[in-house]
Amino acid sequence: MPPTFDSATQQALAARIRFYRDLGLTEFYRRPVDPALAEQLAALGSALTLPEPPQKLGAPSFPRPLEERLGDHEPTHTPSLASGTAKVPNNMGAPHLDSEMWEGSAHPQPNQEQPIPPRKSITAPPAISELVAPAGRAAALQIIRDEIGDCTRCALHTGRNKLVFGDGSPNARLMFVGEGPGADEDAQGIPFVGKAGQLLNNMITAMGLKREEVYIANVVKCRPPANRTPEPDEANTCSPFLFRQIDVVRPDVLVALGATAATYLLGQRQPLAGLRGRVHPFRGTKLIVTYHPAFLLRDPRQKKEAWADLQIAMRELGLKAPAKG
Ligand code: URA
Repeated sequence: MPPTFDSATQQALAARIRFYRDLGLTEFYRRPVDPALAEQLAALGSALTLPEPPQKLGAPSFPRPLEERLGDHEPTHTPSLASGTAKVPNNMGAPHLDSEMWEGSAHPQPNQEQPIPPRKSITAPPAISELVAPAGRAAALQIIRDEIGDCTRCALHTGRNKLVFGDGSPNARLMFVGEGPGADEDAQGIPFVGKAGQLLNNMITAMGLKREEVYIANVVKCRPPANRTPEPDEANTCSPFLFRQIDVVRPDVLVALGATAATYLLGQRQPLAGLRGRVHPFRGTKLIVTYHPAFLLRDPRQKKEAWADLQIAMRELGLKAPAKG
């Protein structure tokens, strides 16, 4: 006679099963079990309609149907450039080219076990937007800035002094993406102006470039409290604007500084070690992943590794390191 579970136990078991599924564990029994008990557990296991835990900071609940997600952040209007010639990349809701991880969950087959949802909420990057001619890029960036406005889309706005949009040449061949503003950036409204910024400046100089020649932006445009890592809902809310900036600037090489930038650019979480040291084809450009300058300040031994990454960027740009002295 299999045990029967009261409703509290059922809830607890179902929650536990869901927890294991989130970890990717779906096979719980390797030995035959009492068929009646197995049936009862199977029923609990498929009870994934249990109420979702509350989302932090008003994040979109996951998983949601693909069609619904495709509509995320759809702007209500498409402002046109003053010149009326160049189009401002605006298609923030289209799926990433590499949309495998979403398609599975969008069309579950009948009688099939529900697929395991992708790990937590990293929104798929939007599709590549149309080209903006070099002469229209500054105006196109300004339109994106205007659209962001006095942003209150996520909770980060509550602690903001200045929104940090981006800095540098709209026609840069090289673009850096960091995580989010720190205290100095929040005070000045310019990315990478603190200690990490000084190191980034040195890295740029070592590459034979001037800071004004590159473009710099962050995954989130408002400072996270105490410089914590942005929450997924914050990064997912803000990063579509970053994608539009990338599509306007259309750099030849994009450098992701640290794991947060790499995660939200690529749309998937992976250890930095597996992403560094190579070129990732990305939105018609080449993405290189390296350490965040703040990390290099804490562990300067890794500067050599970061320099090796930057040399890959230089090779792709056809740059030679300037002679010393
Ligand atoms: N760290 C970042 O990731 N971005 C900045 O702008 C400054 C520090």
